[in-house]
Amino acid sequence: MDFKQAKFKAAYGTASQLPASLRPEVSFAGRSNVGKSSLLNGLFMRKDLVKVSQTPGKTTTINFFEVDVPVSGKGGATFVDLPGYGFAKVSQAERERWGELMERYFTQDRRFALVVCLVDIRHDAQALDVQMLEYVQEVGLPWCVALTKADKLSRQQQLKQAASLRRQLKVPPEVPMVITSASSGAGLDELRRTINAAVEAVR
Ligand code: GDP
Repeated sequence: MDFKQAKFKAAYGTASQLPASLRPEVSFAGRSNVGKSSLLNGLFMRKDLVKVSQTPGKTTTINFFEVDVPVSGKGGATFVDLPGYGFAKVSQAERERWGELMERYFTQDRRFALVVCLVDIRHDAQALDVQMLEYVQEVGLPWCVALTKADKLSRQQQLKQAASLRRQLKVPPEVPMVITSASSGAGLDELRRTINAAVEAVR
């Protein structure tokens, strides 16, 4: 897939608005501020297709991007930017809306190719990340972990923390874990390869 050929399609605030899933879907989930927007821009080799948040936790929408969809309409994939979780200042009502939106999204009849779970490499496992990963494991969708902000650690620290997080987050050995940095571009090719393989597998 040509990741540069990415277009923003729409943002949806309720699950009932979500369009039918025509193409393999690659979904991105993670805590608010984990670096999801930056990573998506990195994957797309674009500066600001995805808005990097100044105020974390503001939007609870599911954002759809069409990636490399040829004029014929066949091929390509849909990238789905799920709302970030765990922002402390969010109201209870907003939190509930988040939960409902996620639950409805993941239980719809969609062409799930891969759920990319983003985790900040600098921190030990946090309860909400454990919950998110347990959830995707439980629903039985193909998934991987993208560790973000690796530029903040030395290579040696990165490898050590990745191994430690795999244990803490109970990521099974067959689930890929990619060390990435949107700032340096490290790991983005590996993540693109992981995504391509998953998309091809459900074509
Ligand atoms: P989102 O809320 O998950 O979409 O996260 P953003 O992409 O908006 O990033 C949150 C903050 O982390 C911003 O201040 C970014 O500049 C910073 N950030 C994102 N990715 C990286 C990275 O790879 N390295 C570093 N050092 N900072 C990053």
